[in-house]
Amino acid sequence: MRVPLLDLKPAYEELRTELDAAYHRVMESGWVLLGEELTAFEAEYARSLGVTHCVGVANGLEALQMILMASGIGPGDEVIVPAHGYIATYLAVTHAGARPVPCEPDVATYNLDPARLASLITSRTRAILPIHLYGLPADMDSIRAIARPRGLLVIEDAAQSHGARSRDRSAGALGDAAGISFYPSKNLGALADAGAVTTNDDRLADRIRHLRNYGAKVRYQHEYQGLNSRMSELQAAFLRAKLPRLKDWNARRSALATRYLRLLAGVGDLVLPVVPSGMEPAWHLFVVRTAQRAALQAHLTAQGIGTQIHYPTPPHLSPAYRDAGWKPGDFPIAERLANEVLSLPIGPHHTPEQIDQVCLAISAFFSGVPRIP
Ligand SMILES: *Cc1c(COP(=O)(O)O)cnc(C)c1O
Repeated sequence: MRVPLLDLKPAYEELRTELDAAYHRVMESGWVLLGEELTAFEAEYARSLGVTHCVGVANGLEALQMILMASGIGPGDEVIVPAHGYIATYLAVTHAGARPVPCEPDVATYNLDPARLASLITSRTRAILPIHLYGLPADMDSIRAIARPRGLLVIEDAAQSHGARSRDRSAGALGDAAGISFYPSKNLGALADAGAVTTNDDRLADRIRHLRNYGAKVRYQHEYQGLNSRMSELQAAFLRAKLPRLKDWNARRSALATRYLRLLAGVGDLVLPVVPSGMEPAWHLFVVRTAQRAALQAHLTAQGIGTQIHYPTPPHLSPAYRDAGWKPGDFPIAERLANEVLSLPIGPHHTPEQIDQVCLAISAFFSGVPRIP
């Protein structure tokens, strides 16, 4: 039995009727951009999160970039970002013209460590941009407590946390605004690129509606130097078909995560994910850590088990930022995590038997392979 890391086909098989109907609705409407499907999806998604506004855009990266642009954050400004995370967060900041200031992660949760924030704040700091990494909400209470008295914005990168909750509030509704991605592999995924901005701020939402459409809300009246960043009607219709299933799909992920945590407890030198109290993760990824990552990954690949590394190079050491002045050793915790993390298969269409098989293969690896000192 092969265990792929990700397989998009079973989601289609489960939702074939709804997705086919969505496709036909859009085809028959003759309207492909900025129409009724998007308006309806925006309302449905905002309601699901408990926020006033959802503005559909082309992808998660531009959602974050436009939040910064709409907030007047640009050249000369600094935005604090997680040193351990995806490069999109850095890129959103640099595309807006501002400077990312990396913050080391908490070594238990992998999320931005709020205890380190105060020492990173300067007179140029304008915002803090945490990621709810792997689907676990960042410690937003602590982050907001530091940001609020200093007048800093808190912008969530909620690309990996659809349906996650922190003390009964939804990820994507925990800051001043959130950038959401509906990239196909996310917990709520479209069938191409798509994204959204969620916020309770009327003025910010209004600006994003301009920015996503060449800076114009009314055709050819260009208020700002905007982007072309629209979510298509087709993707909005597909997302409307999938949104009602998100809760159930996340519950299936959560059951598989519980199974992993039980079966992998005490195996080898594995470090398992931690869930702080009050948090309900979306389990976008199930990430373990081991000093023997390369050998474990090779062993699992040989058994037909798909894994992935999220992410092998921290953004500050990525060649894309070779001119930014960062060097190895600048953020040792993030660099260590990048060397040790491994994502195991988890998704709403994996079976408990597949998870058992992954766990058996991991146990066999650690009992058969002598420990590397
Ligand atoms: C997927 C992702 C993004 C970017 O989303 P796109 O829709 O691919 O642009 C941003 N941040 C994180 C943490 C992500 O996982």
